[in-house]
Amino acid sequence: MWQLLKHAKIFTPEPIEEMDLLMVGERIAAIGNNLSLPPYVKGEVFDLTGLTLVPGFMDAHVHICGGGGEAGPASRTPEIQLSQLTKAGTTTVVGCLGTDAVSRSMAQLLTKARALQDEGLTTYIYSGAYQVPPLTLFPTLRQDLALVDKVVGAGEIAISDHRSAQPQIAELEHLTAEARVGGMLGGKAGIVHLHLGEGKRGLDPVWQILNQTEIPITQFMPTHINRTYPLLEQGIEFLKAGGHIDLTAGCDDFPKDLQVPAVLLLLFERKVLNDRVTVTSDGNGSMPEYNKAGVLVGMGVGSVEVLWRDVREAVLEGLPLDVGLRTITANVANVLHLPRKGLIRLDYDADLVALDEELYVHHVWARGKLMVRAQEAVVLGRYEGSIRNK
Ligand code: ZN
Repeated sequence: MWQLLKHAKIFTPEPIEEMDLLMVGERIAAIGNNLSLPPYVKGEVFDLTGLTLVPGFMDAHVHICGGGGEAGPASRTPEIQLSQLTKAGTTTVVGCLGTDAVSRSMAQLLTKARALQDEGLTTYIYSGAYQVPPLTLFPTLRQDLALVDKVVGAGEIAISDHRSAQPQIAELEHLTAEARVGGMLGGKAGIVHLHLGEGKRGLDPVWQILNQTEIPITQFMPTHINRTYPLLEQGIEFLKAGGHIDLTAGCDDFPKDLQVPAVLLLLFERKVLNDRVTVTSDGNGSMPEYNKAGVLVGMGVGSVEVLWRDVREAVLEGLPLDVGLRTITANVANVLHLPRKGLIRLDYDADLVALDEELYVHHVWARGKLMVRAQEAVVLGRYEGSIRNK
């Protein structure tokens, strides 16, 4: 299948002069000006005048096979459907398990990731859940990383949280070593994606590991860094020391200056918004609310749409578009070592989003397949026709 996109403003994430892009099959085959389809091929030409073409969004933290469960069996969240992701502009997703690794399994997570891949997306998973020792497919984390293509790291491992396994430092060290060596053997990042809770220890356990082992700071990708003011400040120190930090979008009940748009602008002003900062949605997980005594008082489901919603908001408030885009495209590919992803570049996967004049998601291609046309999902998951999510 040949598809030619004409007259777009292209951000690779950097803006470029060229305005046309040719897709052949699943890849980007040419970027230039005045491109045309060869006469001997059948293909589709799209006029993208007025639209901005950007890399497909990459969401490195989504509870694709459901999450939740903190308020009993009825509070488990359902599996995500294909069009929920594509309509959000997300073309690459990393699935994870959360608090509930009793009724959820690695087999479920891997199978759901493979289902979404079959439906057109690009998917990866983390081995593990909140608990330590981590949940795995093979007997060890090292084997999962070395042997299972979709596993790119360990996660989301909970620390400094009342729902964590309260892991000892030695246990976390061992887990990280397994991720590191398994990653080497499998040619992966072997990242340790850490869920940070509101606990007073914050990133201290990570600093302890860094101080007493040879493990490099880049092995970790702590998330929910914008959850509290002290954690955000710790996160900025971690970033300055060479680490990665991941911000969680959609935290609408947080103070404004802890929400992603404000935090991205703060990092940009402080000149620390580099290629080690990412944003994820934590989509499809539960959003439990606890009171001061730790009693659950409310529950919601996270949406994957908040990923672009929040980054777009930061752009509207003054963040350069390319800088914002990087946090959900190129930086994710960089942190997780994902080949042919995160950039509009020759021979990269044709994962593309065309944004309208107000920067809303308009068309979406995933691996060269048109998934969303003029804001309408044109490809649905197998059962979405009968169980229609909004
Ligand atoms: Zn989490």
